[in-house]
Amino acid sequence: MKTYAHVERLTYRCLVYAWGDTKDLRMITINGGVYEVTNSLHIALRRLRERGINGLLWIDALCIDQSNEAEKTTQVSLMGDTFSAAVMVLMWLGTPRTGFSDGGVLGADKVAFNAVPILHALAGGVHVHELPCFPSRSQRQQLGVCRDRDASEDWSRVFQSRRAWMSSSWFTRTWTIQEVTKARRAVFLFGSRQISWDIMASAWRHFAQHMQSCCSESVYRLAGTKSRTLSALAVPMIDLWNLKRSLKHEQDIVDVLIQCNAKAASDPPDKVFALLALQAGPGMVKMVPDYRMSLQDTFVAFARSLNATRGILVTLGLDLEQRVVHLSS
Ligand SMILES: [Zn+2]
Repeated sequence: MKTYAHVERLTYRCLVYAWGDTKDLRMITINGGVYEVTNSLHIALRRLRERGINGLLWIDALCIDQSNEAEKTTQVSLMGDTFSAAVMVLMWLGTPRTGFSDGGVLGADKVAFNAVPILHALAGGVHVHELPCFPSRSQRQQLGVCRDRDASEDWSRVFQSRRAWMSSSWFTRTWTIQEVTKARRAVFLFGSRQISWDIMASAWRHFAQHMQSCCSESVYRLAGTKSRTLSALAVPMIDLWNLKRSLKHEQDIVDVLIQCNAKAASDPPDKVFALLALQAGPGMVKMVPDYRMSLQDTFVAFARSLNATRGILVTLGLDLEQRVVHLSS
């Protein structure tokens, strides 16, 4: 591990991930020193090594002394710059669980893999009803059916895999917004597979567009609740893409807070601190993250700075871990 001045021009990647269970720890050795990391980070680091991803890495749990409130305060203030100066942000979604299809047990690697060609196809503009879960016209004629129904084994493979990618707790984090918004290049890593932010976002955007137009009829004919479930899969990525796009322009932090209301943060003050670097323009809330403040003081300071710079009054919810602000006016 090495320390660099923030102004130094370095070629490094950021590794971002959901911390997972902070009591489920593993030991790693860095420069002869032993560090405790969560199992989630331990697996991510092993995967990076297996994939031959070398070079400088910035990792929050290791590069910021989490027990030092003063250091956290300084580093979190710089976080937006840390992500934007990285050559790439590696977004670790975790490891897929094994799954089942009509053909038997699917290994974790297979589960992760199955979605990759589908996502590339969707990003390229393929119709949803052309995906493998829908039988072709000739297959339907062969089967003697006129309705579009899912071919169960193909459906299971595709569906399980796409659901596995989108079910990662990475998508539920408040910090996710800053990571994808500030990143110059971003790549999702899931088990042994990877896909770029651009492909992933394009795939789900096209998917949503098709679902609302040319492919809606085919999808809604799917058996049972599958059409609703399929539609819901797109939501986390569409939300992120919309936020990333809107944050390129001057975005009202209150709007961002409302949109991120359901997102989680291991440390409750991060519900606000994770978003401060996303503001731009003259209406910015002038607040500096400070982890030495109590949670109550943090939210009061945020409300005051909103009121002072924007003339907006907010009432703070008491269930702060889940909801940050409730707008009263
Ligand atoms: Zn279509």
